[in-house]
Formats: sequence, structure tokens, C-alpha cells
Amino acid sequence: MIKKNILVINCGSSSIKFSIINPINEKKILTGITKHLKNKIYLIKWKINNINYKKKINKINSNLEILKFIFTSIIIKNKKIFKNLFSIGHRIVHGGEHFSNSVIINDKVINSIKDSIKFAPLHNSEHLIGIYKSFKYFPNFIKKNIAVFDTAFHQSIPKKFFLYALPYNLYKKYKIRKYGAHGISHKFITLKTANILNKEIKNINIISCHLGNGCSISAIKNGKCIDTSMGLTPLEGLVMGTRCGDIDSSIIFYLYNFLGIKIDKINKILNNESGLLGISEISNDLKYIEKNYKNKKNFKLAIDIFCHRLSKYIGSYITLFNKNFDALVFTGGIGENSELIRELTINSLNILNFKIDKILNKNIYYKKSGIITKFNSRLALVIPSNEELIIAKDSYNIINNNKFIN
Ligand code: ADP
Repeated sequence: MIKKNILVINCGSSSIKFSIINPINEKKILTGITKHLKNKIYLIKWKINNINYKKKINKINSNLEILKFIFTSIIIKNKKIFKNLFSIGHRIVHGGEHFSNSVIINDKVINSIKDSIKFAPLHNSEHLIGIYKSFKYFPNFIKKNIAVFDTAFHQSIPKKFFLYALPYNLYKKYKIRKYGAHGISHKFITLKTANILNKEIKNINIISCHLGNGCSISAIKNGKCIDTSMGLTPLEGLVMGTRCGDIDSSIIFYLYNFLGIKIDKINKILNNESGLLGISEISNDLKYIEKNYKNKKNFKLAIDIFCHRLSKYIGSYITLFNKNFDALVFTGGIGENSELIRELTINSLNILNFKIDKILNKNIYYKKSGIITKFNSRLALVIPSNEELIIAKDSYNIINNNKFIN
């Protein structure tokens, strides 16, 4: 039997997601996630061939120890799964300007990931732990670990769009610029839309809206990203669960100089206490806000601000295309499930000839994909994202000398 299964690791700051995927038939053989319960106690849940397992583990100090359990007790111990492993794909949030594609991990790649820690300190340092531990527990795969970057898809953004209007030296010397995030998801949406519309990737022109706890939107022209809403960090752009997105930067000086709020606290306000949570004053969970928006103060306001920001971005991104615009695509937990957010957003884009089809829109939720606009409208689609699949396919293709499967 030819080995082909890929172990996909997303070693994050608050959880570890792991899966084993066949990149050819796209089947998930194993999926799992860790959850921090309290103090040093973690819950690991995983599913193999549709059978659910869970285990509580105690006395855990860091991701290092959880990975040991995942690698040894879940993967290596399962001989049937382990013997079919082909390579290991790591999701890496920030690759700076170093990477515009996925790569085999070597010392140089590790140094570049380290160099980008400054832009994503919580994420990149945990990713490195994931890499070191997979080197340790899977020594036969050392040359078969692939880094797949969330920033890579955005490296095609032209300079006139990725530069801030700050002193140029800040870019030249410190690489302060827009990098974007969610690139793996936007890439998946690009490939999938091309597939659905039966077009070549190089001819695909879309606006991709990834709306989850984090939200970002990308303009993709001729199959390449040309602009995206997240910036140097994932704080810029759309309204998110707890992040404010775009604000006047002077607010920071006002909070600091006039209200005496410390810089760490301001950081916390903008990243953890704003967005849907900040406006609703109760929840960052769109599903909950949506359910109660008629009777809870500020819930409707949170939804209105969220949709206004989103349609403003769509309106500005559409000016980047000529006549050849294929589709507006929604993805992520909100994009895939919220009939209300899709309807409100599209209704405010009437002038651009987007017209919602209420029935089609209502019927798309939970991993369904399809059209949500009327036949005489510009096209809007919902496509469930599958970032793990991109990581698995890249990890397979690169080791196979880029004999491309998609
Ligand atoms: P993450 O960015 O953490 O991966 P997700 O993509 O899972 O987040 O999206 C989480 C968001 O999706 C939450 O705000 C959640 O309330 C929202 N969501 C999930 N299901 C629904 C639903 N059925 N209706 C409305 N919103 C939903």
C-alpha cells in the first residue's frame, strides 16, 4: 500500500487541533482538539472513523506535554494509522515576508519562523513547539515536515496595497506592513470556487469573506490575493468577536494620555474586549447575539456595525476588479451559518447589483455550500472552509515534488 496520509498539526496558543487526512480522497481519518478545563487540567477529544474518544489529563504545564500524549498515545499507538503516515503539515500563523508558499521545514525555515515571532508572539512560539516535538516523536519524518503559512497567500499583495502611509523607514528597517491572516482559508476558497465555477485558478476573481471569531476579507484577482483586511497583526479590518478591527489610531493616545489607561490594558481592550463583545456588552458569540437580538439592548447595534463594516470593505474591494468579477464568497462559522449576517450585508450592496434570494440563503447552513443570490444578481456563494485540507494537500504535493493534486 502507498502511504499517503498526512498528520496536520495546528499547535495554537489556546488549543491544539490535530487531524489525519487522506489528501487524495479528502477523507478525514482522525480529528482531535484539546481544551483547557482549569489549572493544569486539559480535555483531549478525538474521533477516529466516526468513533468519539476523550481523555482528561492532569498536571499539564504546557503544550509540550499534551503533544506527547497526542503523538504517542493517540497516533503512534494506533499501528493502522501510523503505518500509513506520509508526512506532517504544520499550520504557521506568521511567516513574515519570508514565505509565499508552503515549504519543507529545515533550520533556515525554523530561523525565519523565529524571526516572525515578533509579529505573532503567542502563535509562532507554540508552532515551534509543535515542530520540535514532531521531530522528536517522528524521527523518520524529519525531512517530511511541511510549514503551511497563513500569511503566504497574501504575499502576492502589491506594495502599494500592503504599505501603510507611515515613514518608509519603518518598513525598510522593521518590516512594518500589512501581512494579513487566514490565508490558508482564503486560498481554499479560491481553489474551491474555481472548481465549482469550472474555471482555471488563474482566471478566478472573487471577494472571500472569512467570518468566524476572527474575521477577514480578501480581494482575489486572477487567482492571486491583491488586498486583505487584516494588517501587521489580525487586529485590523472587520469587526470580530472580541477585536475592534479598524479604529482611528488616535483613540489609543486618548486612552493613554487622557484616561491614563496602561498600554497593556489598551492592548487587551482592543483585542479581547471589543468587537461584538464590546458593543453587545454581553457576548462575542454571534449565534447567541443573533438569537436574542430583538430583545437585548445593543445586540442589534452590534450586528448592524458588523455588517456595515463588512459591506464597506466589499464595496471598496469591488473597485479593484474590472468587468470580470466571479463571486462574493462567505465562509467561517458566521459566513457558513448566519443567514441574517449574509442577508443584511447583501441587502446593503444593492447598488452593486447583489440581490439576496431569501429561500436559497435560508437553506444554507452547517457545512452546506451553494448560491444565495437571485439569478439576475451578481453571484454570492457560501463555501465551508477546510484549512486542514490545504495543509494536507500542500504537505503531500511538496514531498511529491509538486506533482499537483487539487
Ligand atoms: P474561529 O475563528 O474560532 O475558528 P468559527 O469559524 O468557528 O471561529 O466561528 C465562530 C463564530 O461562528 C461564532 O461567533 C459563532 O457564534 C458563529 N456561529 C456558529 N454557528 C452559527 C450559527 N448557526 N448561526 C450564527 N452564527 C454561528
